[in-house]
Amino acid sequence: MKPSAVRQLLRDLDFRPRKTLGQNFLVDRNVRQAHLDAAGINGEDVVLEIGPGLGALTEGLISHAGAVIAVEKDPRLYDYLSRRLSGAGNLTLIHADMLDLDPGALRSGDGAAVTRVVANLPYAAGSRILVLLMQSPDPPVAMHVTVQLEVAERLCAEPDSESYGMLSCWAQRCYTVKRVRRISPGCFYPEPEVVSAIVAFTRHAEHHLSRESERIFYALTKFAFGQRRKQLVSSLGRAAVQIRCDRKALETFLDARGLSPKARPEQLGAGHWCALATAIADGQLR
Ligand code: SAM
Repeated sequence: MKPSAVRQLLRDLDFRPRKTLGQNFLVDRNVRQAHLDAAGINGEDVVLEIGPGLGALTEGLISHAGAVIAVEKDPRLYDYLSRRLSGAGNLTLIHADMLDLDPGALRSGDGAAVTRVVANLPYAAGSRILVLLMQSPDPPVAMHVTVQLEVAERLCAEPDSESYGMLSCWAQRCYTVKRVRRISPGCFYPEPEVVSAIVAFTRHAEHHLSRESERIFYALTKFAFGQRRKQLVSSLGRAAVQIRCDRKALETFLDARGLSPKARPEQLGAGHWCALATAIADGQLR
């Protein structure tokens, strides 16, 4: 839909886009097509779309995927889409806040679980929604999402770079993350104040963690990145007992991986954090 058609539709629906819900609708056909192409959906896929809005991506997903589950928080958009897409037999439309749902429990009409995520995420909740998806017990095999450029940079950042932080580490634990393309504000209506980017997540099989190591991985990274200016040996020497490390043992651990004993949190990649969490869980760093 062109911006003029979206404006008209919103007038017809007497709908004022809400900034708090990130209601910036995609109006650029090339970007829409690029997003769908990048996602590489096939008839076997059960695609989860978060925030279908006026359906810019939804129709393309319905025609390529085996099934689509679309979760929309805004009741007016949910009503509009229910009417407009009522003929789509492979669409399950859910009126809910994605943050209140368990992604692992979502099922298509045929009872199949989600394999992929394709979404133009709302800015305010985008990172939290991604964390929810990454932390589910069986995360989607691939995700293609539009987020604010700054979030895209954090997701893809290499260790020891300015944008690298906890979100990068969590994303890269399960996924290879790549920026597909930038999207300028003019591709949306209303135009947002920020630049966006499509990000591709492809699940990898590295960094497997036991349940206990995973629990420690999250507690550890939350604590350490909360004090990112501090050297690890000093912050983890004073951490809560479940993640506390003996200074000497930690120095030896870092040295064995070619890391300085003065290393700070942003210098460790996702693999290092997983190894550290596993060593703590095994009692090797007490
Ligand atoms: N997919 C549409 C498009 O590309 O034009 C709309 C994208 S718009 C950036 C974000 C959409 O997410 C809006 O429809 C908004 O109502 C919805 N939304 C915002 N927060 C949400 C949440 N927590 N759970 C589900 N949907 C949400």
